[in-house]
Amino acid sequence: MTAPRLDIDLDKIHHNASLLVHRLAKRGISVTGVVKSTLGCPEIANTLLRAGVLTLGDSRLENIEALRHAGVHATAALIRSPMPSQAERVVRSANFSFNTEIAVIRALSRSAQNARRTHGVVLMVELGDLREGIMPADLHTSVRETLSLPNIALLGIGTNLSCRSGVVPDDHNMAELSTLANSVDAAFSDQLKPGLAMISGGNSANLRWALGDTEKGRINNLRLGESILLGCETLHRQPLAGLHTDAISLVAEVIELKTKPSKPWGTIAQNAFGEMVQSVDRGRVHQAILAIGRQDVDPDGLIAPSGVNILAASSDHLVAEISANRIRVGAEIRFGLNYSALLRAMTSPFVSRAMKRSRASPELFEHYTAA
Ligand SMILES: *Cc1c(COP(=O)(O)O)cnc(C)c1O
Repeated sequence: MTAPRLDIDLDKIHHNASLLVHRLAKRGISVTGVVKSTLGCPEIANTLLRAGVLTLGDSRLENIEALRHAGVHATAALIRSPMPSQAERVVRSANFSFNTEIAVIRALSRSAQNARRTHGVVLMVELGDLREGIMPADLHTSVRETLSLPNIALLGIGTNLSCRSGVVPDDHNMAELSTLANSVDAAFSDQLKPGLAMISGGNSANLRWALGDTEKGRINNLRLGESILLGCETLHRQPLAGLHTDAISLVAEVIELKTKPSKPWGTIAQNAFGEMVQSVDRGRVHQAILAIGRQDVDPDGLIAPSGVNILAASSDHLVAEISANRIRVGAEIRFGLNYSALLRAMTSPFVSRAMKRSRASPELFEHYTAA
């Protein structure tokens, strides 16, 4: 098989998604399946839909367009505030979008009128992480302006924590979001019937709070990406009980295998990436070079199998020390990935994908090469 490649086990992704969907449903919370790390992969999107996610979410319009092109017609949300220059395309491909700027919502309104469509809007509120969001004191103004725009439907409010500053979702900030939802419903009861439908509490970092025993208030949606694909929560990157953490792995091929000194010789200056490399003389080591590099993956996010120790990576070469001389040139080595490594591997044109699926289709293996 080709290398480097991502081996994607759709059955394990299905298991992860459906377990989270069921656990959260017991607390009245629906799941938006966030597929932005998959570059609009229709097999993964369809797997999430079969597992019961309510809608798909992506931060890039191009990925939603790719899903539409591949025949995925489920409700899809653009979860990053739209670029005004893309308003027409947003209205054409996404059913709704997450917004913080009235200028953008006005552009969406104009485009929706031209397209004779209604576009849904979720207003994002800033609750401390300092990424996107309307300041709470300004929310009513934004709601009033949004409600006044033709061909725009206000679906709900949401917040995003943890991504920029690591702010932890807790009873305090989630209660604040519920209180804001209640105050919007009370202040706009004439125009908003029967009130805000979606109160989207956050991303995979919210799972600990959402699955905990405290009151959920108005929170009825989470947007989950990493936890479904990698099986871990994202505050401490701990595996989630019952979920697979190896649904996706990366395979690379050995192209050189030699016993070499561990310490370079000659005069030492910066390496290819501007670093001054310090090295200790550990005698001679078994050194392997794998045909994969920083163009394909974030090497710091690779989890090596036992007996393999990653030493360095340049654009196209991954240098590893191996404990025994058992492997040969041409052998494949399989790595686990963190989110950063997954993101880059999924978006590299040099990394192919092999989908494994038993439940949904009779073909066991199906090849899919990234465009
Ligand atoms: C990426 C993203 C998510 C999903 O985050 P995960 O940590 O992958 O669950 C949710 N909401 C927004 C706004 C995002 O940008």
